[in-house]
Amino acid sequence: MAHTVTLIPGDGIGPEVTQAMCRVVEATGVQIEWEVHEAGEPAIARYGTPLPEHVLESIRRNKVGLKGPITTPIGKGFRSVNVGLRQALNLYANLRPCKTIPGVPSRYENVDLVVVRENTEGMYVGIEHEVIPNEAAEAVRIITRRASERIVRFAFDYARAHGRKLVTAVHKGNILKITDGLFLRCAQEVAAQYPDIAYNERIVDNLCMQLVQRPHEYDVLVLTNLFGDIVSDLCCGLVGGLGVAPGANIGDGVAVFEPVHGSAPKYAGQNKVNPTAMIRSAAMMLEYIGEVEAARRIEAAVEKVIAAGEKVTYDLKPSRDDPTAVGTQEMAEAIIAAL
Ligand code: NAD
Repeated sequence: MAHTVTLIPGDGIGPEVTQAMCRVVEATGVQIEWEVHEAGEPAIARYGTPLPEHVLESIRRNKVGLKGPITTPIGKGFRSVNVGLRQALNLYANLRPCKTIPGVPSRYENVDLVVVRENTEGMYVGIEHEVIPNEAAEAVRIITRRASERIVRFAFDYARAHGRKLVTAVHKGNILKITDGLFLRCAQEVAAQYPDIAYNERIVDNLCMQLVQRPHEYDVLVLTNLFGDIVSDLCCGLVGGLGVAPGANIGDGVAVFEPVHGSAPKYAGQNKVNPTAMIRSAAMMLEYIGEVEAARRIEAAVEKVIAAGEKVTYDLKPSRDDPTAVGTQEMAEAIIAAL
């Protein structure tokens, strides 16, 4: 039976990594009917809004979506479509597994971390304004018991289901005493309900240093929205960069999968960037819809191509100007051949 999945190719490098991903998924033989929709800048031109209601409706109906990156203007312009989508569909858990793939150039070996980021509140509620024009500005950070308990519970449930041993709550409660004080109290209360899984806490700046020095001491990290955004990119850096890092935004009965990376506009249209993050996001999506075997085959094929180190994009070569690097579509073809 065919699965219907909402597909948002995104912009910048989005369409090319999406094309590569679709070819790989098709090669697994799993029948997917893609419902393709625009969001971001092109949607404004056509529908007058970067996140049209019919896109949200499509994801609600299909219960699963896959998206490429979408550019967000800096310091002006429309609100992030990515944040808007997560909030509108209540995709409260952002899941970013960061595991070393043998063959990916990195300073570290055998890193295996999972970042669980709260996706609906914190600094990303979008409430900010100028107090005195051009002189003083203010942003609001919202932390609730409901969202904090929910995300920590998600982290512990994930840990339990995936044989993980430790959950670390990451915070800045020494400075943000009230907001992160609440987040930490919720984390401690939820942790007490999971005696089979170890729990500890780290202040976010110290955690960043420790991740760089001793990443193997950590397992599942649970963080509020902004800290999760930053620390997940750091963790991607530990396992070889944004080109290989998949992600998922998960709510109750609905999920949207997407690479951690953004639209990398300077590489758009060049058939240059790594399609792996998008392809692995599709593998996470396939697992979510029950196509576990196809997901495993994709992961194995990706690992095989990367380990061989030949038909890989520039970011996976020992030197970034290596002339033997292949393009986005050629790497996808190598993955298809390895399937
Ligand atoms: P970015 O992830 O787009 O790119 C940063 C750098 O990472 C690139 O210059 C490139 O060197 C590398 N990189 C990213 N993807 C890669 C790939 N597939 N293969 C190889 N190298 C890759 O981050 P940015 O430059 O900070 O953001 C650009 C735009 O993307 C912004 O508008 C931002 O808002 C948006 N963004 C969107 C999402 C999303 O859609 N979820 C996430 C992050 C950023």
